[in-house]
Amino acid sequence: MDQIIIEDLKVFAHHGVYREEQEQGQNFYINAVLETDTRRAGIMDDLAFSTNYGEVCVFVSSFLQEHTYRLIETAAEQTAQALLLRFPLIRRVSLEVRKPEAPIPLPFGSVSVKIVRGWRRACLSCGSNMGDRKAHLDGAVASLRADVKCRVLRVSDWIETAPYGGVAQDDFLNGAIVLDTIYTPEELLERLHEIEKEHQRERKVHWGPRTLDLDILLYEGCVMYTEELTIPHADMANRDFVLKPLAQIAPYERHPLSGKSILQMCGELELISSP
Ligand code: AMP
Repeated sequence: MDQIIIEDLKVFAHHGVYREEQEQGQNFYINAVLETDTRRAGIMDDLAFSTNYGEVCVFVSSFLQEHTYRLIETAAEQTAQALLLRFPLIRRVSLEVRKPEAPIPLPFGSVSVKIVRGWRRACLSCGSNMGDRKAHLDGAVASLRADVKCRVLRVSDWIETAPYGGVAQDDFLNGAIVLDTIYTPEELLERLHEIEKEHQRERKVHWGPRTLDLDILLYEGCVMYTEELTIPHADMANRDFVLKPLAQIAPYERHPLSGKSILQMCGELELISSP
């Protein structure tokens, strides 16, 4: 992706663990690489299609002056997040906060923290088979739309499906959602659990009835397997109620392990399940 690069923006601010640092302040230097598509602005010669680096500098400077953090890790984290939320065309930012006057009792050149943060594309599945199923699914989308750390891009139709997993229960309404998010996978899962709770979700029977079930199917090419989270979702290839709605809105998204597109996975599952 194209880059806009800011080097050594000087900001006098008050970040530090020690009281004197917070009271007296010192100079910080900021390096930022903003990943963004500059093609349209470049062709049109029009700033409206790009991110104004002057505004970015003023924003970063004010942000770091208005807040006081003990750690430059936090200063970097909070500034990167604020930038991503404030400037919609920035896809990713690499941000370095340098502190050359840090209280280190030895001769040294400089010390800094450098992080990379950005918007990541995630695909979710959602399902409900209790109460007003459509209202639960619509409500989940509304909650995600209301969350500044998510940008809902596409929502599938809600489709009626027979229950899965052998527990006798009512039919489901299922769908899929594609969004960009600055949450990590773990944070996104936590947020989805909060939204499920808002819809009175109780976990009683495994694969049993639920007012709202939200799962992470894919997260920007990420492959992870922890106690809490398996990405890509472990069973997505076997579930037509997951693949069908997802194929509507993200047919060419690929499973990062098999390399297969959603459309391909959908076709293969239909072949297996058709007599
Ligand atoms: P469920 O009853 O289907 O909602 O199961 C939810 C549990 O599965 C959660 O508490 C997660 O810790 C775990 N889990 C593992 N991988 C995923 C995933 N990709 N998306 C959502 N939940 C997951």
